[in-house]
Amino acid sequence: MSASTVRARTTSVDQTRDLAAALAELARPGDLLVLVGDLGAGKTAFCQGFGRGLGVDEQITSPTFAIVQSYTGRLDLHHLDVYRLGQLNEALDLGLNELLDEGGVTIIEWGDMIVPVLPPDFLEVHLDLDPDADAASDEALNVRSVGLVPVGARWSARVRAVRTALAAWAVDEPGSDPTC
Ligand code: ADP
Ligand code: MG
Repeated sequence: MSASTVRARTTSVDQTRDLAAALAELARPGDLLVLVGDLGAGKTAFCQGFGRGLGVDEQITSPTFAIVQSYTGRLDLHHLDVYRLGQLNEALDLGLNELLDEGGVTIIEWGDMIVPVLPPDFLEVHLDLDPDADAASDEALNVRSVGLVPVGARWSARVRAVRTALAAWAVDEPGSDPTC
């Protein structure tokens, strides 16, 4: 992850949802988010919060059978989970560019599995169980580190805004200068 990575930390599923809802305030038509993280990391929870931030009323669940699930909101949300895609060329059939052109926001769980077919601009959201956590305690099991990496100019231009929107969950960067 580079200097433009925004780092945050949540200590409950609701915090992850709230963080995602705050990020959704910055969303623009045609945006793409790629969620990276193991099973149970909180990718679907993030989508639920992001959907709430977009004004989606319907309950967002894992799109297990249909790979793409679309929801109506202030901006529409296209939610994909590509974990079960058999081959990369199946990702070409998803019609990703058409979805992005429709004007909503697209979020892809396990999107790192289909990087070769992704467009050049997206926000990569890494969700990780805290490696420093003492897994023996229940509290530690609820900690997630969240790393947001802009890929391409579209999100790079918004790094400051992302940092501001997520200030409540910020993790101090070692050696970073908060004034720049
Ligand atoms: P994924 O889609 O990455 O497989 P889910 O969002 O379906 O993950 O599940 C995440 C699980 O982890 C849920 O059971 C949730 O309650 C739990 N959890 C505990 N702490 C957190 C946290 N800080 N952020 C997100 N999920 C958390
Ligand atoms: Mg999921």
